[in-house]
Amino acid sequence: MGISCKIIEDLLPLYIDGVCSEESKEVVEEHLSECSRCEDMFRHMKSTCLPKQDVDVNLNEAEALRDLSKKWNRKLLGAMIKGVISTLLLVGGMLLIIYIFVGFKGA
Ligand SMILES: [Zn+2]
Repeated sequence: MGISCKIIEDLLPLYIDGVCSEESKEVVEEHLSECSRCEDMFRHMKSTCLPKQDVDVNLNEAEALRDLSKKWNRKLLGAMIKGVISTLLLVGGMLLIIYIFVGFKGA
């Protein structure tokens, strides 16, 4: 193999983040296929680092989404109440005008 486990250990975080060069990637992959100790370390690093970040991001996103939907619901409710009130006023006003008009005509 030629590359020491210490070097692979240094490269693994970069490899997991996908920020190392193609050459380093190949060296790491080659070493991992031959060295079970580093492969175990790679699996451990991958399972402890990445999914946790994903969960954090998902939680933040879910929270932001919940906040957004809360605000949105409040806004929507306010708009609906305003809409209902203005519709009632409009219809009531029209009915009143029609009533007055028809009432005068009928008399
Ligand atoms: Zn190794």
